[in-house]
Amino acid sequence: MKILIIGPQGSGKSTQAELLSKKLGIFYLSTGNISRKIARENTPLGRKVKKIMESGRLVDDQTILQVVEKVLQGKKNFVAEGFPRNLFQAKKFKKGFNKVFYLKISQKEIIRRLTARRICQNCKANFNLITTPPKKERVCDFCGGELIQREDDSKEAIKKRLEIYQKATKPLLDFYRQKGIFQEVDGERPIEVIFKDILSRV
Ligand code: AMP
Repeated sequence: MKILIIGPQGSGKSTQAELLSKKLGIFYLSTGNISRKIARENTPLGRKVKKIMESGRLVDDQTILQVVEKVLQGKKNFVAEGFPRNLFQAKKFKKGFNKVFYLKISQKEIIRRLTARRICQNCKANFNLITTPPKKERVCDFCGGELIQREDDSKEAIKKRLEIYQKATKPLLDFYRQKGIFQEVDGERPIEVIFKDILSRV
């Protein structure tokens, strides 16, 4: 089973993809997580990716495609999120998908959720002050690390990322719609409700 969870930033893609990966026992591909990992490396590529991410722009297609090919090598079942990000990546991705779930959410709700997002500086666990707040303010539940905002969750970067999403990712919806594998999911409901909905359609 090859599943793609697609949707704008803050739609809950990674939450749903992670839940599906655990439930179905399949590989979880997040090019956002991979990009953040590369950006932490003190190499020419790491420094380049860090700069790109901080400005809210996309990493170049060739780099992403190479990395994805490498991590998915030999894997038949997976749930992807954040990739493909544009039509070019989708067309180049030969493995393809069986099912594509689009998490639909309004622009107002996106901004509200993204500005509430926090990440642990130490173990990289994700929190959201609205939906999944930490037990103690600014402290990670898992390792006690400090919770900070992601560089690309600043208001300026969010605006840029949404702009890019409109331009680059939306044509993807039509691409998968035409293939007959596209399904829309109401992304403004509670996490568990959305998860059950998706599971019932996998
Ligand atoms: P995300 O966590 O999915 O919002 O991704 C965070 C950042 O990682 C993006 O703003 C891009 O800079 C980079 N990135 C993640 N996935 C891709 C992709 N498929 N193509 C290009 N850049 C990506």
